[in-house]
Amino acid sequence: MLPPFQNEPFTDFSKEENRKQMEKALKEVRARFPLEIPVVIAGEKLHTGKTFSSINPSEKSEVVANVHAADEPLAERALDVAWKAFDEWQNVPAEERASVLLRAAQILRRRKAEVTALMVYEVGKNWAEADADVAETIDYLEFYAREALRYAQDQPLTPYPGEYNRYFYIPLGAGVVIPPWNFPLAILTGMTTAAIVSGNTVVLKPASDAAAIGYVLVELMEEAGLPDGVLNYLPGSGSTVGERLVTHPRTRFIAFTGSKAVGIHIYEEAAKVRPGQIWLKRVIAEMGGKDAIIVDSDADLDAAARGIVASAFGYQGQKCSAASRLIVVEDVYDDVVERVKALTEKISIGPAWENHFMGPVINESAMQKILAYMDIGRQEGQLIHGGGRVEELAEQGFYLQPTLIKDVAPEARIAQEEIFGPVLAILKARDFSHALEIANNTEYGLTGAVYSRCRAHIERAKREFHVGNLYINRKCTGALVDVHPFGGFNMSGTDSKAGGRDYLLLFLQGKSVAERLHE
Ligand code: NAP
Ligand code: MG
Repeated sequence: MLPPFQNEPFTDFSKEENRKQMEKALKEVRARFPLEIPVVIAGEKLHTGKTFSSINPSEKSEVVANVHAADEPLAERALDVAWKAFDEWQNVPAEERASVLLRAAQILRRRKAEVTALMVYEVGKNWAEADADVAETIDYLEFYAREALRYAQDQPLTPYPGEYNRYFYIPLGAGVVIPPWNFPLAILTGMTTAAIVSGNTVVLKPASDAAAIGYVLVELMEEAGLPDGVLNYLPGSGSTVGERLVTHPRTRFIAFTGSKAVGIHIYEEAAKVRPGQIWLKRVIAEMGGKDAIIVDSDADLDAAARGIVASAFGYQGQKCSAASRLIVVEDVYDDVVERVKALTEKISIGPAWENHFMGPVINESAMQKILAYMDIGRQEGQLIHGGGRVEELAEQGFYLQPTLIKDVAPEARIAQEEIFGPVLAILKARDFSHALEIANNTEYGLTGAVYSRCRAHIERAKREFHVGNLYINRKCTGALVDVHPFGGFNMSGTDSKAGGRDYLLLFLQGKSVAERLHE
């Protein structure tokens, strides 16, 4: 019997020994750069020779890894291999499949400091953010292993006289997993291992900005004893390799997490039935957010200000759950704005390995896009903090100031469009009803938070605030596996609720077998 699932604890970096260990790992990992990341098909590591570099956004001249890119013919080969591997993997007992994930979790615990350090360099997360990503990865492995055992049981049926009837779940086949760079190990591992532990085989196309971290999962699964071909690793461009995998008639399912634009495109392409295709592809698409925090008149304003700043600027605002709209009821508006501004002014910014509260954004084009939104924000409201690059660090990397823009109208672009950077639009509401109305007035519906002491308002928010993950009197980021199953409504995606008990069902199909008994 497995012990019940428990979330992996976060590392306490205020402890000297943990700090020392992290510093050592940062040094050792950096000495190995640039890493060489291969394509992996059927367990074979392929150096295609066509490489692209994954760089350190904190120090943009530093190449973290040279990544060998796959192309369309390799994408086809990987799908063939995945289908071949499916023949056997689908019949491996759930206990064995689950034990691969449990071993991988154990190996990752052993490698924790090193993997955390690699993440700090490759995507610019500070220590706590990277450590939380690794902890979440361990949680997915542990939780989905247990879930696979649960789903492997026969499901209850109403008995019928003269028949022996069964209802059970079988896997779908070979599918494609396409993760984002912002939770580079956790989301990638969650989607991939949910599919694998359910008996499917996978072609994984990592995000190009995080292909070295993505490769860690390949190493973990290999060491844990996953048979060759069950997980194939295909770094390469989204618009060529990704596109080929999505449109291929032999792709059975697609698990995607990323932007709205790419999600919609994948959803549309996957819906087209192509010659030779004998199923309708299943698509799980988790997309962006325009997440709001509401502050009510009677809220604990200090707690609210702390939660707002953590939600808006943690990991530079590059979380789908990040607060990008602050909606404050009129009578406390000025007070809340002052408190948020005071905390924002204290934020330290610098290289992720130095463990500042804020590091760089992921790459040049993300930085340019966010800067453009800062300019739009100047037109649409009153800039009260930030609004540009951190000039002293401009040579070094993609550092942006945490930016506050107040008096923004609900219809403004910076109140409607996902920016995915450290920009908070602040909006004034007449009262709590108006605040809820503003909060619900976007095409997204991912996370949201309400700070209030009014029971009636809290209960109303629970009914009416239309988001997949609602938080009351706490920040709107930091969902934990099986504590806060995670996924959003409307254009935030298919609400697949990662880290929840419905998740594995998305990678399964139910089979009903009725057997007539002899008289
Ligand atoms: P993205 O630009 O949409 O990319 C996501 C993935 O799709 C990458 O692996 C990308 O590959 C690939 N891709 C791009 N074009 C493709 C195509 N035509 N066909 C197939 N694949 C394609 O998103 P991102 O910048 O990595 O991540 C940030 C976004 O993810 C934000 O919008 C954020 O809100 C969202 N997100 C949502 C959740 C959630 O749970 N709802 C969680 C985390 C992040 P390349 O890297 O090679 O371009
Ligand atoms: Mg990078």
